[in-house]
Amino acid sequence: MTTISENLKIINNFVTQNVKLVAVSKAQSLDTIMDAYTAGHRIFGENKVQEILLKRERLPDDILWHFIGHLQTNKVKQIVSFVDLIQGVDSLKLLEYINKESKKINRTVKCLLQIHIADEMTKFGFSEEELFELLKSGVINSLENITICGLMGMATFTDNTQQIRKEFKNLKRIFDSAKNNYFFDNDNFTELSMGMSDDFKIAIEEGSTMIRVGSSIFGLRKYN
Ligand SMILES: *Cc1c(COP(=O)(O)O)cnc(C)c1O
Repeated sequence: MTTISENLKIINNFVTQNVKLVAVSKAQSLDTIMDAYTAGHRIFGENKVQEILLKRERLPDDILWHFIGHLQTNKVKQIVSFVDLIQGVDSLKLLEYINKESKKINRTVKCLLQIHIADEMTKFGFSEEELFELLKSGVINSLENITICGLMGMATFTDNTQQIRKEFKNLKRIFDSAKNNYFFDNDNFTELSMGMSDDFKIAIEEGSTMIRVGSSIFGLRKYN
């Protein structure tokens, strides 16, 4: 079995200069996360509010925490004070909550908009049409305590790599279109978060700037 530090090295070999690796540490122990931290890793992703709060309290301060799960509006205020990036914002209502809560503490929070690209109905996110309706409405510009840094998406859970590639290509097309039409003069809109343990190589080939990798770094999750 390879160690966490070795796994990170192997994956980082695929991570070119303009790609960031988010180590998805959900359902992993503090010790396990510390192994990655000691190996030099600093960006970690969690998908449960209770868990990210507990881990942040007990782990080093210079960790950059990404929230990668479905965030409920009533839990927003618990994480806005420290979270580095909220990946997967999937409704205007949620954006408005994040804006309201970050305004209260005089902070600007970075967010990615989640786009639904998979075949499955179970994954969250805006459809392409909903995204462009939102962007066209201009309402995002009025949310002063939010910075939209790009898009995020998850491919269908399947062995069919052609389908996965097609879905990533589609997300990249949507990203380029959003960038060119609504964020062309905005230096913050740069991130395209796509790719997990089983598909990050394809995602990078298709233009990902941020991969979210859990089990390939840490092994099987300890609970859940
Ligand atoms: C769990 C999770 C990941 C990581 O999945 P692995 O297959 O373990 O790499 C990435 N993104 C999101 C949104 C997740 O929930």
